[in-house]
Amino acid sequence: MDNYTVYVPSYTVGETAYQKIPEYACLYGTKAVVIGGRKAMAAAKERILSAVKESVLEVTDFICYGTECSFEAAARLEELPAVRQADMIFAVGGGKAIDTCKLVSLDLSKPYFAFPTIASNCAAASSLSIVYHEDGSFCDFVHFLNSARHVFIDTRIIAEAPRRYLWAGIGDTCAKYYEVDISARGEELEHHLALGVHMSRMCMETLVRHGKQALADNTAGRPSYDLAQAALAIIITTGWVSMLVARNHTMDYNGGMAHAFFYGLCSLPGFDEDHLHGVVVSFGILVLLMMDGREDECRRLQEFNRQVGLPVTLSDIGVTLEQVAACASIMTKDEDLIHYPYRVSEEMILEAVEKLI
Ligand SMILES: [Zn+2]
Repeated sequence: MDNYTVYVPSYTVGETAYQKIPEYACLYGTKAVVIGGRKAMAAAKERILSAVKESVLEVTDFICYGTECSFEAAARLEELPAVRQADMIFAVGGGKAIDTCKLVSLDLSKPYFAFPTIASNCAAASSLSIVYHEDGSFCDFVHFLNSARHVFIDTRIIAEAPRRYLWAGIGDTCAKYYEVDISARGEELEHHLALGVHMSRMCMETLVRHGKQALADNTAGRPSYDLAQAALAIIITTGWVSMLVARNHTMDYNGGMAHAFFYGLCSLPGFDEDHLHGVVVSFGILVLLMMDGREDECRRLQEFNRQVGLPVTLSDIGVTLEQVAACASIMTKDEDLIHYPYRVSEEMILEAVEKLI
């Protein structure tokens, strides 16, 4: 057996999570530069500055990452003296801002800390960057980057973020369980893979249990226990699972039919701009379950989707059966299906979707 190393980032969660910044960041130097989204930095700035005030840490600048996670945006940031001179990067914001910081961290060999300000995806705790072109179209996945040295989740900031991010995040996160579970089906699992596969169940179960209340608390701006559980499932559990279930490009259980369904539909003009990724993926899970012959589980999840306002039928995502048929061949070729226990055909997709009209 070859050597391998598994690394998952530690985290702090709570209303005063940022107070822990000095404890972790001081290990890597004294100068930190903040790179993030404009709104995210506005929400986090005072809280970061107050947390480092009494420490040796100096926050040298707050820099907006741009609007897309692109190689060009990363290159522009890497030219800035404040970034070059920093000992570490504080990545503040949603997925795109944090993914951009991962590219900068790699190019300049600097550690980064993640400060997710929305609970919508696992970018803060994963080692993947989803890279776009400057015009917003998809460019590339960059896998196996360094992950954050620590993740700081301030639940008050999360509670005050727009609800739609959490809503979509719930759909995307539930998919992690169903996709990983199916991708790993029937395989002899090495330790870290088994950990990830077993842990993935918490992506779904935690949200089925706390998701509805978390959404209500997000609407009310309340940093509650339920909201913290939902944020942890979306950011941490999913990030850890995604790292644990992938060792290299050929041994990767991430991804599956729910995502293949979404990416296939993205070939429809304007689809990507008009739909939230996680919302469509949550319908994709229903397709995955029907195709997998698990109608009971599908109906159970439909009931959950109904409770939290996620899609239940095909018309809920504004798509027709003809449009699915037009995209079906792209879905079958999607790289999310490379490691799947059976070959997915166009007929199987359409048969499953017909049960969800
Ligand atoms: Zn996703």
